[in-house]
Amino acid sequence: MVTATFRFYDELNGFLPRARRGREFATPCARAATVKHMIEALGVPHTEAALVLVNGESSGFGRLLEEGDRVAVYPRFGTLDVTALSRLPQPPHMAQESQQPQQPQEAHDSRIAPRFVADAHLGGLARLLRMAGFDTLYDNGYRDDEIVAIAAREGRIVLTRDRELLKRRAVSQGCYLHAIKPEIQFRELFDRLGLALDAQPFSLCLHCNLALRAVDKALVLDALPPSVRELHEEFTTCEACRRVYWKGSHHKRMRALLDTVTGGALPAAHDEAAASCGQEPDSAPGGPETDATHRAQGGPQA
Ligand SMILES: [Zn+2]
Repeated sequence: MVTATFRFYDELNGFLPRARRGREFATPCARAATVKHMIEALGVPHTEAALVLVNGESSGFGRLLEEGDRVAVYPRFGTLDVTALSRLPQPPHMAQESQQPQQPQEAHDSRIAPRFVADAHLGGLARLLRMAGFDTLYDNGYRDDEIVAIAAREGRIVLTRDRELLKRRAVSQGCYLHAIKPEIQFRELFDRLGLALDAQPFSLCLHCNLALRAVDKALVLDALPPSVRELHEEFTTCEACRRVYWKGSHHKRMRALLDTVTGGALPAAHDEAAASCGQEPDSAPGGPETDATHRAQGGPQA
């Protein structure tokens, strides 16, 4: 049995008992305990640590702790890139960025947009992510085992407020959401993963998570409510569910939310994508869940 000293930084303290927050504390470690084993034993899922220093040097999770080791554990910061320093596994889009310096446009072109699988309690966040163009699997029937299997098979980042789920060995990439409200979770994730560069707003069906395509107004005219027929010219549709999207008041609210999380700095290409689609649940009678025969509908229901 050895004793090591730990210090966790910033939001990682939220996983600790009050007496251990914001300060160094010594703790006995099990025989042959690794950095990862102890971080999780102390309550912090391994997915939440972006950088670990042992005695001042960057360390991987597999390092065996020795008597007197001093361990500092840092979360991922949206504003501070620690990927170049860290020896921990990084999300694919971030690891790629840290390998070689690139011009901003090149960086955007070659980035791999992160993909997600959200647990059964994060339906609101899943819809907001789809609205921003992030491939996000969600089903309120998903069991934890399914989420872990999907994430491993498809290289998706697990989103959850269940820290035990993130401690599972098979979960290599995950994000614990500290906030309760979907809009604040959305902002939290944008900051943490630097998602603004990858957003493609209004490019996915909010219900099916599939790509939308532009559709001629004449082809969807019969299915549109009169006010929409009169006011809108641009429409997109989902091949799977046949829902039709247009730029209505809901689109404006979503756009405003995106502008706040991205600082209004989405590249021009994104505006173009946004201009070709939209949603208007306010004027779609019945809404998606209650009017199965009315195929013109849009937007997330609250
Ligand atoms: Zn659809």
